[in-house]
This record gives sequence, structure tokens and C-alpha cells, in this order.
Amino acid sequence: MSSLNFCPKCGDPISTRHDGERERQACVAVGCGFIHFGEFSIGCAGVVTREIDGVTKALLVQRGHNPFAGMWQIPGGYAEHDELLSTAVEREVHEESKVIASVHDVLAFRHSLGGSRGGPATNIYVIFRLNYESGEPAFDGDEISNAGFYSLAEMEHIEGVQGLSKWGIQQALQNEPGTGLSIGAIDERSKAGDWQLFGLSF
Ligand SMILES: [Zn+2]
Repeated sequence: MSSLNFCPKCGDPISTRHDGERERQACVAVGCGFIHFGEFSIGCAGVVTREIDGVTKALLVQRGHNPFAGMWQIPGGYAEHDELLSTAVEREVHEESKVIASVHDVLAFRHSLGGSRGGPATNIYVIFRLNYESGEPAFDGDEISNAGFYSLAEMEHIEGVQGLSKWGIQQALQNEPGTGLSIGAIDERSKAGDWQLFGLSF
């Protein structure tokens, strides 16, 4: 886990405190109360399928930059700290492919510990199923070097399709839309714009 020298809240030198049955970096300045729980990030990606000539095809983009330059995967990226996940995945799909799609349900999520994978933070990566709305795949030729809709059979002939992406596409094809977690509301709080509830049924 990352280490702090100074409190990000008040700027005092950081100390440690026993909290939740372990030692944590914490600020002991009067009235501050900051505790460093670690660094976390949230990623999201979208499976967007579309019928083309009677065949179901899924949207893939090819990474132009490292890490994993040349790898084909479903479009996605990090959610901003002030952005709802459904907004983030729809934005990432559009940024990377120019395709417009809307969130339908959650297919899966992966939890990885940053330290064990060399990343900066513990990460949750949520794989969504999105409804294709409009647009043809297009790419900037820089961050994304290619994009298109491909069937699972066609993917067999493409080198470097990410295993997790292919698995997510298979999940989408094998499970009816709506069988995953969908967005709904149970009270006024969950209708607010800064809060989203994902459930099996509403
Ligand atoms: Zn502080």
C-alpha cells in the first residue's frame, strides 16, 4: 500500500493509529480525523453487441498505447471520482469507438489487489452489457488504433484478443439481457443523481 508523509486533509505530518484491528496511517491533529485506508480505483468496460447480417457481433477496440499495445479488448477505462459508473462506461465506449450505447445490466466484476499486479491501487473493474444505439466504429489512431464489431468466430482469427473481454462477451451472449444487475430505485435517496443502486430485480 502507498505511504503518506503528510495528511492530505490538513497538511500535518502523518502518524499511525490502531483502527479496525490493524495499524493505519492516520492524522492525529485535533479536529482532523483523517485515516488512510489505501488507494482504490474503479474501472468499467462495456460489451456492446449488434446484429449484422444475422450474426451477433461485439464491439472491440485495439489499444494503441502500452501497457498492452496491440491488444484487442472491449472498450472501457477508469471512472472519474465524481462520475457515476453508468455514465463512465457510456463515455468510455463513445470516446474509444464513437459508438453510442446505453447501460443495460452488469455482467460481472473483477477485484484485483494493486500490489500483487503492480498497479497503483486496489481495483474494481465492472463489466457492463450495453444496448447499441447508433454510430459506426471509428478511432483516433493514437490511443485506439482500430475498432470494429466482430463475432466470436471472427475473434478466433484476431491475434491478441484479451481473455477477460472474450469471456465477458460470452457471458453476454449466453445470458438473456436483464439477468445481470440492473439500475433501479427503492426510495427517494436512490433516485438522487449522485447515487446508483444495482440489483437483480426491482
Ligand atoms: Zn490531518
